[in-house]
Amino acid sequence: MQAGLSHSEAKALFLAAVDEDLAEKEALQLRTHLDECGQCKNNWERYSRGVSRVKGVDREQAPPGLASMIVRRIRRRRFGSRNLALAHAHYRVPVEVIIPLLLGVLVAAFLVLSAP
Ligand SMILES: [Zn+2]
Repeated sequence: MQAGLSHSEAKALFLAAVDEDLAEKEALQLRTHLDECGQCKNNWERYSRGVSRVKGVDREQAPPGLASMIVRRIRRRRFGSRNLALAHAHYRVPVEVIIPLLLGVLVAAFLVLSAP
């Protein structure tokens, strides 16, 4: 493997990548990793598919508390208002969709909260 991203670093970029919010360098690193790593590519495809599906869904479902708590926490620390809509979208989805999303969010949360 090249001096690329680790699996968890790649995953941590998913949230921003799906909103096209990555710096060019990060986007390139992520693409490179996805090209080399079938595992993350799978995750990415599931994730981005889930998100685009969510973006087309009307608001109707009540938010599960955990997801909204995590999303709010991350958003406060790191993300601007552009991700607000996306974050809201996250907790309107059915459970089978939110699990992979939540996983990504959890990884991102872990990395953000444990960053020096
Ligand atoms: Zn990987």
